[in-house]
Amino acid sequence: MSIPLIQFTEKGLYCAQGNFYLDPWYAVDNALITHAHSDHARWGNKNYLCATPSAPLLKARLGNISLQSVDYNQTIVINGVEVSFFPAGHVVGSSQIRLQFGGETWVFSGDYKTENDGISGAFEPVPCNVFITESTFGLPIYKWQPQNLVYSTMQRWAQANHAQGITSVFFAYSLGKAQRVIDAVAPTGIPIYVHGSVWQMQEAVALAGIPQPTVHKWTADTSKHQTKGCIVVAPASTDNSTWLNKFSPYVTAACSGWMQVRGNKRRNNFDTGFVLSDHADWDGLLTAIKATNAEKVFVTHGFQKVLSRYLNEMGIEAAEVKTNYGSENEETETEPATTDTVL
Ligand SMILES: [Zn+2]
Ligand SMILES: [Zn+2]
Repeated sequence: MSIPLIQFTEKGLYCAQGNFYLDPWYAVDNALITHAHSDHARWGNKNYLCATPSAPLLKARLGNISLQSVDYNQTIVINGVEVSFFPAGHVVGSSQIRLQFGGETWVFSGDYKTENDGISGAFEPVPCNVFITESTFGLPIYKWQPQNLVYSTMQRWAQANHAQGITSVFFAYSLGKAQRVIDAVAPTGIPIYVHGSVWQMQEAVALAGIPQPTVHKWTADTSKHQTKGCIVVAPASTDNSTWLNKFSPYVTAACSGWMQVRGNKRRNNFDTGFVLSDHADWDGLLTAIKATNAEKVFVTHGFQKVLSRYLNEMGIEAAEVKTNYGSENEETETEPATTDTVL
């Protein structure tokens, strides 16, 4: 029997034929990276390869690394294995990675979102024999509204606060969610102030060639008067911090797929919650999986058990795979501790 094109090893997803890893969680010589979130792009690898728009983000996150990049839809050959990156629609620069060797095609999805958010590139189904999919929101209860509807709700909330001189604080992971929140609320014309970590990502996103609305970097010199009634975008780690007092009076909003589950907003003490995710919902996952025409599907981080069982019942051979992804996931900031209770 021939060696599978991708093996699930202790260090991560490994292609022996090409001698490289995909999003490894331990340091290796050659790492192909789907996107710049910390659970997929880790420190310490000798050489990194990613899609071109992901390069400035990886550098912003990991500093001075040995990094090569390849354009979407281009093919490069590594030790005889044909490697291509395709948009995954998750965050700026996010990719699915396709490997072709000996007449077989495997695709690793990384994290993905099927709705085009206008920033992250349009998710492209890639036909393959074997598809490795994430399953962050792999439960039928997760069903997203179209982005424009969620964006208008966010705008109305910010406008109502603005009219009362109350600052709207949106908690958003600095890479991905923050850019979408900014995109969502910019049409209101209300000034947007961002936390330093969001500012750093905005700069990297600009280097990736993605135009972004004007935002102001919050600094120690920014006065309370300036931010009164404005919009603030900050990572959720600032929740309950004294930093937030600088914006008083303010109200907070979480923006996450987890907000779909009743109780999560209240449990975390957010004033409001918007269901806005950078991952595919249940239907999105199924549509994406079917579109690959894969004969075999491996299901990684999320609701592996539910999704793989469902696929098997539908006649698509599927198996769960344990990975280290999701451990510092962009969604865990507001994820409830007891997610299985929604089963
Ligand atoms: Zn991610
Ligand atoms: Zn992930």
